[in-house]
Amino acid sequence: MDDEWICGRFAEDEPWALGAVNPPVFENSVFTFETAEELGEAIRNEDERYVYWRGTNPTVDLAQRKLAALERGERAKCFGSGMGAISATISSLVSAGDHVLVLGAVYGPTTQFLRYLEKFGVTHTHVEDLAAADSAITASTRLLYFESPSYMAYAVVDIAGVAAWARERGLVTVMDNTWSTPLFQKPLTMGVDLVVHSLSKYVGGHSDLVGGVVVGPKRLIRPLALTEYQLYGAAMSPHDAARVIKGLRTLPVRMAAHQERGLAVAAFLDDHPAVRAVNHPGLPSHPGHAIALRQMSGFSSLFSLVLDTDSRQEVAAFLNKLRHFRIGVSWGGFESLVNAPALSTEESVRVAMGIPVGLVRLSVGLEPADTLIKDLGLALEELRA
Ligand code: PLP
Repeated sequence: MDDEWICGRFAEDEPWALGAVNPPVFENSVFTFETAEELGEAIRNEDERYVYWRGTNPTVDLAQRKLAALERGERAKCFGSGMGAISATISSLVSAGDHVLVLGAVYGPTTQFLRYLEKFGVTHTHVEDLAAADSAITASTRLLYFESPSYMAYAVVDIAGVAAWARERGLVTVMDNTWSTPLFQKPLTMGVDLVVHSLSKYVGGHSDLVGGVVVGPKRLIRPLALTEYQLYGAAMSPHDAARVIKGLRTLPVRMAAHQERGLAVAAFLDDHPAVRAVNHPGLPSHPGHAIALRQMSGFSSLFSLVLDTDSRQEVAAFLNKLRHFRIGVSWGGFESLVNAPALSTEESVRVAMGIPVGLVRLSVGLEPADTLIKDLGLALEELRA
């Protein structure tokens, strides 16, 4: 099935939609039944039946069906945030005494959550490559968790290679695919077991939504939908699901524009003498570019550069000079954003993650590339002065 169709009308021709171009939003918290037996049967299958908002709801279900189809997965479960999806997914796969391998750099709070699990007897080890993973794996290792491109450094992981390595060793793989969106990369087709996303980024696209999703086979989604989803309570609201559906309508055209503008900005920075490095997997100079071309069909517009300085004051001055990039966390919205981990991350975490002081993260929005390039050019000239 065509992705543009999935982002548009797919799954929307339900009788209850009455032909509405935007599906109606079910705002009720409770569904009722003709008989007590019917209610009992629905509760036992609450991953697929409408009982109570914290379980699921037709509007959320519609968003789930679209996201599952885009990722080529059997089932999807939407959450109230990306971290809701990540924490429920990891929790559903591990028990006390289990060990988790984390490959490459991942989103900070994901690591924090793994540290939090230590109090329940779940341990984890960060490794940089499969050779290190081979040394770190133990008889208790259950899960391998990774992102590609990786967090902040945007290093590219050979997804099929990692999935095959893990499968041979009986590990479940979970991959955060937020960077690429379900349009540009489909990890389930490369052997990954479960894919997670923050929908708060490109899928929402308008910086007005916080949401998450996990996609994969029914045998892994059903248990977490019946247990962790219900018990942690990070349910997606039908209003947020309507925003997801709306975001998906324009995702293909927005991603084409993000890709083009992001690459234009990255190429400008790559040639600039005040920039030590640009970490964008779409640049031919990126060490992971060849693998990226093999496993991705496009590039989003979140990347980092390393300024030619080791001074925090100069990094701050660079950020403060920008007029079209707004200073803030998050990414993937219509608006360009800038953030520097050396100014916003705990020093020990920055050092542990190997992030240089001069690293600046850009989320290129939908403003004209020329405007953004001019803005960056002026701030870089000031840095060199
Ligand atoms: N994964 C990545 C790569 C992220 O950058 C983020 C948030 O910034 C998340 C997951 C968490 O998503 P949320 O903020 O929706 O909980």
